[in-house]
Amino acid sequence: MQSKLAELGEPRYRLGQIWRWAAQGAGSFAEMTDLPRGLRDALSGVVPFSTLSPRREAHARDGTVKTLFETSDGRLVEAVLMRYRDGRRSLCLSSQSGCPLTCTFCATGRMRFGRNLTSSEILDQALHFRRLGRVDHAVFMGMGEPMINLDAVLGACERLPDLGVTHRRTAISTVGWVPGINRLAESPMPIRLALSLHAADPALRSQLMPVNDRYPLAEVLAACRAFYERKRRKVFIEYVMLAGVNDAHGQAVQLAEILDPRIYKVNLIPYNPTDAPYAGSSAKAIDAFRAELERRGLEATVRLTRGRDIDAACGQLAASS
Ligand code: SAH
Repeated sequence: MQSKLAELGEPRYRLGQIWRWAAQGAGSFAEMTDLPRGLRDALSGVVPFSTLSPRREAHARDGTVKTLFETSDGRLVEAVLMRYRDGRRSLCLSSQSGCPLTCTFCATGRMRFGRNLTSSEILDQALHFRRLGRVDHAVFMGMGEPMINLDAVLGACERLPDLGVTHRRTAISTVGWVPGINRLAESPMPIRLALSLHAADPALRSQLMPVNDRYPLAEVLAACRAFYERKRRKVFIEYVMLAGVNDAHGQAVQLAEILDPRIYKVNLIPYNPTDAPYAGSSAKAIDAFRAELERRGLEATVRLTRGRDIDAACGQLAASS
């Protein structure tokens, strides 16, 4: 855009003008009515409006929308818009096409890894949903491991406030990629950190998430503590509830023992079905687990499941078709 505008001899402020329109949900140059008509025509069809082409859109009964996009080199990416009854509209963004990690309970890990997405490809997911209406939260909980592609993720984050999503309402979720946690702690943006923990026992965690062999839990928790000390913002712990695997009473006790309640808040995630041979914990087991954590002083909530009927819930993004 910048070079095209220069080529056309346009003043520099045009770029900001165009970005404001896009960030506020414009879907084409034609809508940008404070640009000269000739310029709008000159840009249309010459500067692509998005790096992504939507290929398919699924609507869940609860108002969740999942979109499958294709990049210009044919990679598939999914992103989700969650609409909540309290009016919140949250974006679930992907940082990679597929994922190089192989967490056993996650559908994305079973899809072939494509590549890191660019900042534009990440931002274009958000802009797509911004065209459907206002948005106010974003989580990097879609496809991929955002900490492996942190430059592009942070590049997109810098612009999200223009769409209505402040840094404080943005969260980056990680398997525990220590160098990324350290770098996020250094960023001036007050972005929230979420850690996918899933098992307090190291052997079990390695079995569920092989990345635990590379970055053992003790190192990961030390990095999270340093993040907290630097940012003074609680770290969210994600814990997917697998029947008979990590949901026993003793495992809640063990989890409470390794988590400092001043630093962490636990979010228990009901397991969403994938091809993996797991069953989700019952509502009763989840509640007993939550109660035990709370009894030990840890704040714990159960994640509201969204979009399960269109395979848009946590761990279900796989671009299957
Ligand atoms: N790679 C990052 C970002 C993805 S976030 C991370 O793992 O944190 C996606 C979240 O959904 C993670 O917490 C992941 O552990 C969780 N998840 C994966 N598979 C799931 C499933 N089948 N049911 C529920 N949650 C799942």
